[in-house]
Amino acid sequence: MIQAAPIINQVLDHPLLEQKGIEFAVKRLDLIHPLVSGNKFYKLKYNLLQAKAQDSKTVLTFGGAYSNHIQATAAACRLLGLDSIGLIRGEETLPLNPTLAFAQNHGMKLAYLSRGDYRKKKESQFLADLQNQFPNTFIIPEGGTNEWAIQGTAEILGAEDSKFSHIIAPIGTGGTFAGLVQSLSPEQKAIGISSLKGNFIIDEVRQILQETGEFPNTTWTVFTNYHFGGYAKYTQALIDFIWDFHRSFGIVLDPIYTGKMMYGLWELIQQDYFPPGSKVLAVHTGGIQGNKGFFERTQISLPLPSR
Ligand SMILES: *Cc1c(COP(=O)(O)O)cnc(C)c1O
Repeated sequence: MIQAAPIINQVLDHPLLEQKGIEFAVKRLDLIHPLVSGNKFYKLKYNLLQAKAQDSKTVLTFGGAYSNHIQATAAACRLLGLDSIGLIRGEETLPLNPTLAFAQNHGMKLAYLSRGDYRKKKESQFLADLQNQFPNTFIIPEGGTNEWAIQGTAEILGAEDSKFSHIIAPIGTGGTFAGLVQSLSPEQKAIGISSLKGNFIIDEVRQILQETGEFPNTTWTVFTNYHFGGYAKYTQALIDFIWDFHRSFGIVLDPIYTGKMMYGLWELIQQDYFPPGSKVLAVHTGGIQGNKGFFERTQISLPLPSR
């Protein structure tokens, strides 16, 4: 498999944390690999091992035009000697944005699905047709969330993390959060901050968890009030927060997931959600490759990774 760098829990110092009596660390998944970073490393791990085990030569998956999953899948397949196909939502726009240009440069064949077709991506007939059209191809669902992904994200927490009372992560499809919940020790709680508008995600998380066991609501909570208008939407307050956070801690956040998580988490700390003595671990799920594309899309600059 692809070699990951050792994972660091970076401990943060800040007057607010001192005042509230909270220990706060960030698990820097954004640093584990230069090309296959963040939670996508874990979500792809067993999918790609499975593709290899089935002797598939090609991996096919789905994503939006700025998708971290598309970027990571292209890079990981190249490293493992697999061909890759990305079915992208919407119409081709040239020149390609940085995410899609990266994917193409790493050998991914890009094709485009109308928004109508894209919505069918989970339907079994649609998937069966795709499989016929692309025999010998391993299909990974959008965002990479399936049973193999959850097996991978359940490996994010290690033995050294059992001292934390609360584990926080952002939520897109919920696959990462579900893996974290599964791997908690009994006295730990998981808190998910959803990047999407709406409460449907709570049921989706529950459903993913139900497929693997009993995970009562006492062990996990999802906040749905930090979406900033919806998926990929943002406000000036969010942008300002991302810059402040970078200035204070030298950590780059993305505006889609980790920025919203950290904003919500910071507010929860201010509101005394965490009892004094809490040990909080926030999982930085990566995604900062998208900050360049965000600038192209919005003309708003954000901190960028140093490499
Ligand atoms: C994809 C992604 C997520 C969402 O992960 P899910 O498993 O879909 O919930 C969170 N953070 C980042 C940076 C991502 O790229």
